[in-house]
Amino acid sequence: MDRRIGVHVSIAGGIDRGIERAIELGCSTVQMFSHNPRGWGLGSRKQEEIVRFKALKKTYDIFPVFIHTSYLINLATSSHELLRKSVAMVIEELNIADQIDAEYVILHTGSASGDDPRSARGRAIGTLKRIADAGRWKAGLLLENTAGERGDVTSRIHDLAEIMEQVPQGLIAGICLDTCHAFAAGYDISTGKGIDALAREISGKCGRDALRLVHLNDAKKPLGSGVDRHEHIGEGMIGKKSFRLFVKHAFFSRIPLVLETPKITVDDDRRNLSTVRKLTGKGGF
Ligand SMILES: [Zn+2]
Ligand SMILES: [Zn+2]
Repeated sequence: MDRRIGVHVSIAGGIDRGIERAIELGCSTVQMFSHNPRGWGLGSRKQEEIVRFKALKKTYDIFPVFIHTSYLINLATSSHELLRKSVAMVIEELNIADQIDAEYVILHTGSASGDDPRSARGRAIGTLKRIADAGRWKAGLLLENTAGERGDVTSRIHDLAEIMEQVPQGLIAGICLDTCHAFAAGYDISTGKGIDALAREISGKCGRDALRLVHLNDAKKPLGSGVDRHEHIGEGMIGKKSFRLFVKHAFFSRIPLVLETPKITVDDDRRNLSTVRKLTGKGGF
């Protein structure tokens, strides 16, 4: 089967418009927010939007569909109020995913914000256990590696593995690897050796089938910067040659790719998608 390639799309005008945008770009997978990611409001989805979304997904075989959770969520926080709101929101994101037949929900686990990262990670694990106890969902949660900014508790692969191990099975389906975040956190994927090492680390610590999605983003800042700034594919510090090695590497070559590259107009998406299709060995549009 062909490699699944997609972009993060806007849902302005409705979630059905989101999947329609992906179809217009020739994508076979897609990621979107289910509501404004910088607010606690969940918005509302009309029944007709949901019906149209599911019909488009089926007709055009858009798979998997990824919901990216709100940036406000922090499962590692020591604030009771923030924790309560975060738990409620993760549960709602999972409910929405099931409503629209989305396969996965992507989560940045949280940040210690001044606290000891180890105990903050422990708190995140406890919180995820509570969520696992609160229900059963068809959609699986994917933990995303983060860029290693201050207070970050999930920038290393073994951090993600530790969380996956300790949360009862059924809630967490695996991980999402963001190439920009990995590079910012010090994983040198600009070389074949570095790509190999990362593949081995993921497979060894999280399991061979744990990786379900790659966020393919170039990085504006150098290796180990700890700064989360995405760049167009091939125009950043990782570079085109390295991305070609990465997408063709045996371990990564079957994993869906979703771009979260800078976007001013839809032409930016067209250009990055065309670059990635060429890198993966498929014709550009
Ligand atoms: Zn990402
Ligand atoms: Zn990022």
